[in-house]
Amino acid sequence: MLAEISAHLAAGRFRSAVAAAAQLQATRRFDPALIALPRLMGEALFAARLWLEAQPWLADAAALEPWDAGLADRLEQCRLPAWLAPSWQDPHSGRRLRRHPPREGRAYSYTVDVVGTCNLRCPSCPVGNSPARPRGFMAPALFGQILAKIRAESPDPAPRLTLYNWGEPLLHPELPRLIGMAHDAGFGVQLSTNLNIRHGLEAVISAAPEELKISLSGFTPQSYARSHRRGDLALVLANMREVRRLIDKHRVGTRVWIGHHIYRFNKDQIPAVAALARELGFAHHPIDAFFMPLERLGDYLDGDPAADPGGIIPDLPLDPRQRQAALTGQQDPDSDCELRYAQTVINHDGSLALCCSVYDQANMLGGNFLDLDHAEIQRRRYAHPFCGTCMAKRMHYAGRALIDLTN
Ligand code: SF4
Ligand code: SF4
Repeated sequence: MLAEISAHLAAGRFRSAVAAAAQLQATRRFDPALIALPRLMGEALFAARLWLEAQPWLADAAALEPWDAGLADRLEQCRLPAWLAPSWQDPHSGRRLRRHPPREGRAYSYTVDVVGTCNLRCPSCPVGNSPARPRGFMAPALFGQILAKIRAESPDPAPRLTLYNWGEPLLHPELPRLIGMAHDAGFGVQLSTNLNIRHGLEAVISAAPEELKISLSGFTPQSYARSHRRGDLALVLANMREVRRLIDKHRVGTRVWIGHHIYRFNKDQIPAVAALARELGFAHHPIDAFFMPLERLGDYLDGDPAADPGGIIPDLPLDPRQRQAALTGQQDPDSDCELRYAQTVINHDGSLALCCSVYDQANMLGGNFLDLDHAEIQRRRYAHPFCGTCMAKRMHYAGRALIDLTN
């Protein structure tokens, strides 16, 4: 019987595996031959990102093996954080939607876009493919007020603070000061950069941000320029080595990782980037490139030929229409969107965005973070019509459905 369940799991027949395992447990609960069942089920469901379903199995496994710290970590990841209500009424569909444990981390996230523009024009990003929107740097005084309000009203007592969304944070002339202010207010700081900068790197590193993501795509000048338009690969590589040197010089604990955007034209470069990451002591996370923002993605799915002015979609590993088809049936139809319940997005001028994946002015929340309390911000987000459009096109960030995969 365990062999049959293992076969189901190996083939991706998760619904069948859960049904068979539940029946086995109900009929032979005290059979010592089944001692391995909870771990088998829990680990497989966890790896398949079926975290709600994995949780009871991991709990049983952890009770049997309380010394296994990794198991305990995975169980914790599968639990809904205390700050999150398990379900919410969706005004668009009229249905009660359940919340899944956040995949992006257990902490509630505040995304503060401290720079309202970028020095590059990547064709897969709204800065490169959408009409320009107001630019600017967040004033330190405003940033301080935002930090104080987050501290006062965050649903999570230890929220995550990221200082970027569609902007390049290292362009901010006072970024080291902002990092210091965040630290003084008790927050860790996460940054993401294209590293196409010529000034200020030492001041930023010596301010000791907790995390620095370096986004990289191609590893030859031609391939890099295709996806990181206006970028200079030689400058980025020199700056990566400089980051290593400065971390050592200032003895800061910044965790650095390379977010490696994978296109059809740079798949063969993954080993070379991995080798560089190893050499520099950075983590390396290859991830399939995708097309943003959601407004242009939706236009593309609707067949609008102007949605991709940079012509980058043919270079994606998976065409968005194929991706959408692949998601059919794999998303939990009763799932709320993680980007509605686990983050607040604040633009450089203090205004609010619906979520981190939208860009057009129509998809801002029509108010300022300082003027609206958390409940009102959430009310406006849940009432926003674009979420209904987004969910209907399966572009949202939903939990996975317990199904038998067919391939
Ligand atoms: S570097 Fe990042 S923010 Fe800047 S244009 Fe490219 S994807 Fe957008
Ligand atoms: S449903 Fe779509 S638009 Fe709404 S928060 Fe989620 S990803 Fe953003």
